[in-house]
Amino acid sequence: MPTLGGKLRHLAASESSLARQVRAALVSTLYTSPASLAIGAIAGSVTAACIAYVTGSLALLICSIAIHLVGILRIASAIIYLRGNAKGSPREQLHWERIYEIGAWLYASLLGAQAFFTLTNSTNTVILLMATIMATGYSAGVAARNAGRPVIAIGQLCLGTLPMALGLFLMGTALSITLGLCIVIFVLGMVDISLQIYEVVYTALSGKQEKSEVAARFEKMARSDMLTGLDNRLAMQMRLGDLLDDIGDLKTEKLAVIWMDLDHFKTINDTLGHLAGDKVLIVTAQRVKAVLGDRGWLARFGGDEFVIMGLVDSADEAELLGNEILESVSQPVSINDNTVEVAASLGVAVAPDHGIQSEVMLKNADIALYHSKNEGGKCVRIFEPFMHEDFLLHRQIESGLTEAMAKDQFTVLFQPIIDLATGRTRSCEALLRWNHPELGDVSPAVFIPVAESAGLIGDITEWVLRKSCEAAAEWPEEVNVSVNISPALLKQNNLPVKIIETLVNTGMVARRLELEITESVLLDKNPHTNSLLRQLQKMGLRLCLDDFGTGFSSLTYLRSWEFDTIKIDKSFIRNIGNSPTDQKIIRAVVQLAKSLEVATVAEGVETEEQLARVRDAGCSRVQGFYYARPMTAPQAQQRLAMETVSNAADPQIVNLR
Ligand code: C2E
Ligand code: MG
Ligand code: MG
Repeated sequence: MPTLGGKLRHLAASESSLARQVRAALVSTLYTSPASLAIGAIAGSVTAACIAYVTGSLALLICSIAIHLVGILRIASAIIYLRGNAKGSPREQLHWERIYEIGAWLYASLLGAQAFFTLTNSTNTVILLMATIMATGYSAGVAARNAGRPVIAIGQLCLGTLPMALGLFLMGTALSITLGLCIVIFVLGMVDISLQIYEVVYTALSGKQEKSEVAARFEKMARSDMLTGLDNRLAMQMRLGDLLDDIGDLKTEKLAVIWMDLDHFKTINDTLGHLAGDKVLIVTAQRVKAVLGDRGWLARFGGDEFVIMGLVDSADEAELLGNEILESVSQPVSINDNTVEVAASLGVAVAPDHGIQSEVMLKNADIALYHSKNEGGKCVRIFEPFMHEDFLLHRQIESGLTEAMAKDQFTVLFQPIIDLATGRTRSCEALLRWNHPELGDVSPAVFIPVAESAGLIGDITEWVLRKSCEAAAEWPEEVNVSVNISPALLKQNNLPVKIIETLVNTGMVARRLELEITESVLLDKNPHTNSLLRQLQKMGLRLCLDDFGTGFSSLTYLRSWEFDTIKIDKSFIRNIGNSPTDQKIIRAVVQLAKSLEVATVAEGVETEEQLARVRDAGCSRVQGFYYARPMTAPQAQQRLAMETVSNAADPQIVNLR
């Protein structure tokens, strides 16, 4: 059991480490019962007035006046505290503790002084009793009442009783000295009781405080995203609900809901690892927060998706905010020794123009985001009602694609690519066709991007490769087959393995398989794509740079990559008759390709004039409706068989138009 000294030492140590909230709660116990304060003040004032009147002593008169004044001030301070400051900050509570302490110690000192002067100046037994009982009773009462702040309670106890003990010692009789000693012992006992009460109150309050802190921590965890520290989906939805309610009530402001999704985040994760992905998410969150400031709220919806909410005056302001965010996010992020290019797509819906319910607003922002992605990403799109139709079509295509293969709705057509020198077919490009039960024929230009975003392109390409190789295995040896490879596929690892499997299963040789890739693949300088392309070249496959001229810095690709063929995009061929610039570009590209010993294919040749111009420009091969439209595998085989026969008849000129 701890001694009184031990308890006092523990008190001194615990005071400095007392949690501010616990201390504030303890301070409030000082003021909780103003009635007891008032009763004490009234009793003190009455006895002081009687003592001063009966003794006629100046010192006791001064004591009496001071007791009245301090009593009134203490009651007033308690009323002020209870009216306005009871729920003040911990700092304010500390200030009120000081006020109480000064008042309490002053009052106790006055009662103690009054008892001392009465004992040393008066012989009136009733007056003596009044002064001593007042000082003793008061001290015993406050020792319990104010035990929540033991320093105050013990101070009051000592100041109220010890002067009385001193007075008794000064009286010098055996009885008075004995009584004085008893008072000192009584003080020690009361100090002990005070400390015990304090211990009980303190333990109870700290336990409560700890529990409420734990509860607050759990609540915060349930509402935040662990990685970025932002609000999570749950918190975002709650906040959005509140903000939309306010918008509905105010009818003056608008609320922008911006849905942001990072472009190609999966590639960062797949190629550089999840830690790199995490870093990109954290940096993105910091950047958006910095741009937003106090203009709005940011939450992580999940994965690489963020939702931003901000009050705006108009849809234009919402778009401006979106563009500011896009600009700050689209900066490179350094991760270890790598610099990762980051970009994002943003979709914006504005309440109440585009909806007033959370689900509608989120859906419309998502639809706008889908449009932004569809336009190539790295842009901001504001929701417009027509987007909804497109979105539904996208969904219909997406769900249709998942069963298209199983339901046999795909076909591969082959379009011959003619060698201008011999007039014979050099290769056939495999072009996928999809007949949707309700939508009819859907263009690959429409469904291939959907297949890419839905993660279905791998299976589809595998199927096209198999069909193409099966068909080509039946063709003459000198005719190749060209298969389009989607950029998304070049970011995955298993393409070489799938190709080898297909070649083995169909009996095709690697050098007869040509892979068509678009410039955009090489644009983002992905190290993974580079090594995959080198691997494919090592396997003996031919590479064709498709849609040449539609990207940037195209010529550098020709230098760094050993392409076997480049296909000049049909947009150049379309205008070749009336655009001297296009003619010059084609001529220059052909010259460059020739010097690098790369074949050139003019794509989309439809007329005799176009053919004459591309021939004149020096193109080595031609693909287009002028020679042949895409045809089925049996049609292609028949055409090639006829070519072989005609070739035997006249090996120089063959034209099967
Ligand atoms: P692409 O690879 O540039 O294919 C050439 C496109 O031009 C084909 O359109 C073809 O039908 C069309 N074309 C050929 N000659 C002419 C012509 O004289 N005039 C006109 N106006 N067009 C001509 P298609 O079949 O609609 O394919 C469009 C795009 O879809 C292709 O462009 C290719 O990027 C993609 N695609 C087609 N099949 C596949 C596939 O199996 N996998 C992948 N990843 N993409 C494919
Ligand atoms: Mg192609
Ligand atoms: Mg093309």
